[in-house]
Amino acid sequence: MSGVKISNAIKKYESVQVIHGVDLDVEDGEFCVFVGPSGCGKSTLLRMIAGLEETTGGTIQIGDRDVTHADPAERGIAMVFQTYALYPHMTVEQNMGFGLKMNGVEKDVIKQKVRDASQILKLDDYLDRKPKALSGGQRQRVAIGRAIVRGPEVFLFDEPLSNLDAELRVEMRVELARLHKEIGATMIYVTHDQVEAMTLADKIVVLRAGIVEQVGSPMKLYKDPDNKFVAGFIGSPGMNFLNATVASKAVKIPAFGDRQVSTSADLSKAGTDISVGVRPQHLTIDPTGSDLSVNLVEHLGGVTYVYLDAGTGERIIVETNADEDVLEIGTKVSVSFEAENMMLFDAKTEKRVR
Ligand code: ADP
Ligand code: MG
Repeated sequence: MSGVKISNAIKKYESVQVIHGVDLDVEDGEFCVFVGPSGCGKSTLLRMIAGLEETTGGTIQIGDRDVTHADPAERGIAMVFQTYALYPHMTVEQNMGFGLKMNGVEKDVIKQKVRDASQILKLDDYLDRKPKALSGGQRQRVAIGRAIVRGPEVFLFDEPLSNLDAELRVEMRVELARLHKEIGATMIYVTHDQVEAMTLADKIVVLRAGIVEQVGSPMKLYKDPDNKFVAGFIGSPGMNFLNATVASKAVKIPAFGDRQVSTSADLSKAGTDISVGVRPQHLTIDPTGSDLSVNLVEHLGGVTYVYLDAGTGERIIVETNADEDVLEIGTKVSVSFEAENMMLFDAKTEKRVR
């Protein structure tokens, strides 16, 4: 098994550059997730690792081999796509073994590999079925099975769960986590869904416009983002950002009635304007205050989201476990939070001010 090392990777489509010098180390056996908005280059970078896109500059290493310009078949990878494209006239067993058969692998060996994979994927009872007699989740498992039987050093997944309904997605997410534990191979997984990234990854790579914004464990990115983009992208609902001004060792927040919150962050280079970030989970409704008015209350069962409007025109979301039934639309309230849960971002560069 092998890790993947990407050094200064560049991708240009004619004059348009879409990957701008990406450096990344994926450890052997790691579950690494590329996450970012649509069009940021996740698939392109994954396809460069797979050899399905020519790399314009830089190098890609799998294990200790430089595979930058190697054929996809020589890279020791297997890829699973969003659309699983099974052969409709073949059974599950034939679909899973087809690649090996084309490579001239012996019948008995194929049979054993398919049996092993189907056991891991809980497909034993479906080996004789055709794809049309399978659910979406089962079909996606067959597609994953096709990858497993090849025994790759690195699995590459491009949004493999995006075509499934919400319930199945959660189920398959759990399956994938189990699969990774069980076979222990290096996996690189692309998604635009930060919840998938948070739940599956050992390491998350946040991409924006072909640039790596931050790399880290899910909780590292949640608790200690380097910039406003990562802070806003990771976590759900997204972090609240409020305009504020710097007042010596404090920030003054107009949306919260010009409240001053003192901070230990180094504000010396921050200029006069600053962006204050507080997560919905870290805000508490204070019914005695009156800076904000209740715009909407969403009950999700276990949690409630309260949407508040500030006099500044800014909107704030509070996540609460309390029963907020009593909050009628238009009610005036305030919010409280611990200063240590407040993050500050340079208003211009959007970099974290620590
Ligand atoms: P993601 O998977 O993050 O949604 P992609 O990697 O598919 O994004 O695309 C990244 C960028 O590269 C996009 O702006 C897209 O329009 C561009 N792109 C992708 N494929 C091509 C291509 N064959 N020719 C030109 N531009 C492309
Ligand atoms: Mg994509």
